[in-house]
Amino acid sequence: MQRNIRLRSEIVMKMREFLIRSHGFVDIETPTLFRRTPGGAQEFVVPTRMPGKFYSLVQSPQQFKQLLMVGGFDRYFQIARCYRDEGTKSDRQPEFTQVDIEMSFTTKENIQRLIEGLLNHVWPEDMGNLPIPFPEMSYKDAMENYGVDKPDTRFGNLLQDITDLAKANEISRIFHSSQIADFAAIAIVFKNSAALISKTAEDSLLASAKMTTNKTQLAFVLIRMEDGGKWKSSLAKKLTQETMNSVGDRLGVSAGDAILLGLGPRESLVPSMGKIRLEVANHLETRGVKLRSNSNNFLWVVDFPLFLPSEELDGGPLQSAHHPFTAPHPDDEHLLRSSPLDVRGLHYDLVLNGSEIGGGSIRIHQSELQEYVLKEILQEDPTNLHHLLKALRCGAPPHGGIALGLDRLMSILCDANSIRDVIAFPKSLDGKDLMSGAPSSISQKEKEMYHIGTVNNNRS
Ligand code: ASP
Repeated sequence: MQRNIRLRSEIVMKMREFLIRSHGFVDIETPTLFRRTPGGAQEFVVPTRMPGKFYSLVQSPQQFKQLLMVGGFDRYFQIARCYRDEGTKSDRQPEFTQVDIEMSFTTKENIQRLIEGLLNHVWPEDMGNLPIPFPEMSYKDAMENYGVDKPDTRFGNLLQDITDLAKANEISRIFHSSQIADFAAIAIVFKNSAALISKTAEDSLLASAKMTTNKTQLAFVLIRMEDGGKWKSSLAKKLTQETMNSVGDRLGVSAGDAILLGLGPRESLVPSMGKIRLEVANHLETRGVKLRSNSNNFLWVVDFPLFLPSEELDGGPLQSAHHPFTAPHPDDEHLLRSSPLDVRGLHYDLVLNGSEIGGGSIRIHQSELQEYVLKEILQEDPTNLHHLLKALRCGAPPHGGIALGLDRLMSILCDANSIRDVIAFPKSLDGKDLMSGAPSSISQKEKEMYHIGTVNNNRS
């Protein structure tokens, strides 16, 4: 921890040096007690002494940094504390730190080059040179080949779409493909790995694939290739040798290889295959196979859709893929009213070794467009953002920015398994401060002062 926390201090000092001294940025602190931002993460609420009034803790300084652009601070940054009530994971905490940046009169490319320069400046010498500029991959290619929008490109084993083959042979009959909307068959090949995945490992990998998706319509099968194009698999007895040969030929497999085959509706199958790809790779690495290269694979993922379909089953309004302030791609703007799901956003994510370490966008700087997106597409009440809409009406400069997740970046630099190893006084996986026991109960008197009652007072 000593080493990690000291390295963190060093890196932050160098970031300030780069941004302020070499690039004219102004370090500006913004409030953390604020009001709800529509269309984003679940926020923590803070009771006040005013009856029925609550602050929200900021999920990021997004609105403030845009307001600062309108106010004429054309290069802003902040090492900003952010809060999101979204459940914790090994790479997430309810409070975390972003290196938050915004610029006026900028472009996506300007921001990308600035971040590459910044990382290059802080990168520890003993970790080798950074391969800048970082490569770019479209969201579409990332999803098609890796099944995820933050691909780990340190190894291959890409997703291979064999839907056409499956539809043309008895696989489609076995899996009732005609009854599945947008049926897809996707395979991943792991060379010379059949013997490294035991039956027990196979069962647990397939079970976890099922569990993470919770979609009963998905089917996963592991196929071990044997001599003469034969399959060792639960599917083998249901297929003709000809079908097995055509699948094997398409995938270019030979004896000893393992194939992971997934079948089901494309929308849920693709991300599941993305997860399995990582899980099988992790498993093979525990068995001594070296799949991932030692390099640091930075990658810009670009051309995200601006909106995603609602996650609600009854089909609620669309959601922003990044956040509601992201500008549409100029080539697609004309589709905003007719087919919003086909519009790409000017949004870019920075990925390192399969972790998203940053994300940002060029912003909407016209108040009418911002209001249209909020009200008509996201179906949010624009009065929550009346201050921002008003500022945009005052002649806002075109602007854009990005935020880097400092904790994740540090955990990669320190080769730590969890962001908790690079944070002083981290919270546990369930969001508790184990040292002090926070969050804790408050007295009845305090509850009265803040005009709050708990639903079940016994559990306070
Ligand atoms: N505020 C955004 C976030 O926290 C980053 C950005 O768009 O600059 O994800």
